[in-house]
Amino acid sequence: MWRLLVPRCCVVCGNTLQEGEEVVCLRCNMDLPRTGYHLKPDNPVERALWAKMPLVRASSYVYYRRGGSYASVLHLLKYKGRKDIALSLGKQAAAELMPSGFFEGVDVIVPVPLHPRKQRSRGYNQSEWLARGLSAVTGIPVDGKSVTRDKDTDTQTHKSVMERQDNVAGIFSLHAPEAFKGKHVLIVDDVFTTGATVTACADALDGVEGVQVSVLTLAVAGS
Ligand SMILES: [Zn+2]
Repeated sequence: MWRLLVPRCCVVCGNTLQEGEEVVCLRCNMDLPRTGYHLKPDNPVERALWAKMPLVRASSYVYYRRGGSYASVLHLLKYKGRKDIALSLGKQAAAELMPSGFFEGVDVIVPVPLHPRKQRSRGYNQSEWLARGLSAVTGIPVDGKSVTRDKDTDTQTHKSVMERQDNVAGIFSLHAPEAFKGKHVLIVDDVFTTGATVTACADALDGVEGVQVSVLTLAVAGS
């Protein structure tokens, strides 16, 4: 009923969405600044992580530019309750990355957890909704419970790279190591900047026998 009263609008341009369009209109979708990183082994996201963690593969779906026309999309999905955007873009990213074999061998998707206090105030974890979108298309299950965030870190915007690393190091805990034994885990986050957050999350899996880690984020800072 709600949809009959309020037209659904494209989150980028604001035009009314047509039938079959979800969240982003066809035109804006075509212009989405895709990275194509899943087709590029040794892409910048993988390079940024190599020295920090043992990695199978990594990618980010789109570029994120501060103030760019798509930056508002990330703001909406992270802070404004629009988990439907995360779900929809998660599905879309999965559909586009799947033919390249990006998800091959992945056993479980682990969204980077929020601190429980932050999740309560925000009402949801945007990375978990991204993961649900990925899962809906790939059929790979989501585990949003075995890794937790023990510290509510401050916003990282004004910190240097080193400070960010320190800020998140050791903030995640693994509660059920046996759940990941011999598994290929895909860590999912919304934005990739320095890689400190996904690295800290991967650190929590360190020591689990036979575990393998890949990383996928919705966006990566850059052009
Ligand atoms: Zn649009």
